[in-house]
Amino acid sequence: RLVSADADGPDEQVIEAALRPKKLDDFIGQERVREQLSLVLHGALRRGRTPDHVLLSGGPGLGKTTLAMIIAAELGRPLRISSGPAIERAGDLAAVLSTLAEGEVLFLDEIHRLARPAEEMLYMAMEDFRVDVVVGKGPGATAIPLDIAPFTLVGATTRAGMLPGPLRDRFGFVAHMDFYEPAELEIIVRRSAALLDVEISDEGAAEVAGRSRGTPRIANRLLRRVRDYAEVRGDGTVTRESARTALALYEVDERGLDRLDRAVLGALLRKFGGGPVGLSTLAVSVGEEPETVEVVAEPFLVRQGLLARTPRGRVATGAAWAHLGLTPPPTAPM
Ligand code: ATP
Repeated sequence: RLVSADADGPDEQVIEAALRPKKLDDFIGQERVREQLSLVLHGALRRGRTPDHVLLSGGPGLGKTTLAMIIAAELGRPLRISSGPAIERAGDLAAVLSTLAEGEVLFLDEIHRLARPAEEMLYMAMEDFRVDVVVGKGPGATAIPLDIAPFTLVGATTRAGMLPGPLRDRFGFVAHMDFYEPAELEIIVRRSAALLDVEISDEGAAEVAGRSRGTPRIANRLLRRVRDYAEVRGDGTVTRESARTALALYEVDERGLDRLDRAVLGALLRKFGGGPVGLSTLAVSVGEEPETVEVVAEPFLVRQGLLARTPRGRVATGAAWAHLGLTPPPTAPM
């Protein structure tokens, strides 16, 4: 799905990696996080110590992996990358931790999905740079303490609320990453275009930015599709017009809604007079599973203030009627 914030396929990931800013100064937006992080890192560098562990929380595609790479680069230290789901047993984590070099940055993506025993091992590692490796099973099992090199953990999560308190408390710095403003996304689009050697007008960049759902990953993806269009059907330059035509072709509208979002909203307005209507009924009317509607389409519609979830069912807002160019009936909720 073009407007999904989830990671791309392997080929696209190569391009995405090339677009990642490499230094804190090149990281666009997230002003507060950037400034706070800069202090954490440079304070530690001055003292010659490893910085506090850092937790990055925020939706997919907002730049958590990019920031982890930047942290390692700013510290001039190597980066080890793993993720909660990849570490199935405490032993897997012990293997990673015991081979870290001094000052190495360990990035654990989706840290909220770490298995319980591994999570407990991590507590001690974060606090005392030590792990207990359990040898044997049952009553004969022995815990052998093992010192590990001081390291900096950078945890990333899309679900900060799911992190157990003891784990969250062990991070010295928690950064909340928000959706980006259109003006910031515009800068990101122009920067990416320059790296991809694509000519783009300011209006063209604004057009792509405005449809990117506040998410750099989506902005970069839309830019690539718009570039294809400009190269194949035009003279290679992305203008406001070519961006508009290309994104209309890909069914991404000026607010970043795609075909599914519009179908859900359209059904809610046209078939149910703006609601309230139950999720399953709404899903059947657009030929989708309720879960798809709930997980894939609704969060963005809610965030955009186009749809509300109420105890009586889904309700369209006044903005939804306006967005689809329809006139609400006199009784429709505003
Ligand atoms: P996920 O959790 O889904 O892996 P993420 O939050 O780790 O997502 P990244 O992979 O870091 O997101 O970023 C996605 C893409 O967006 C990258 O190609 C990166 O270049 C770009 N990007 C993210 N943040 C910025 C930024 N602040 N400035 C410029 N480009 C950015």
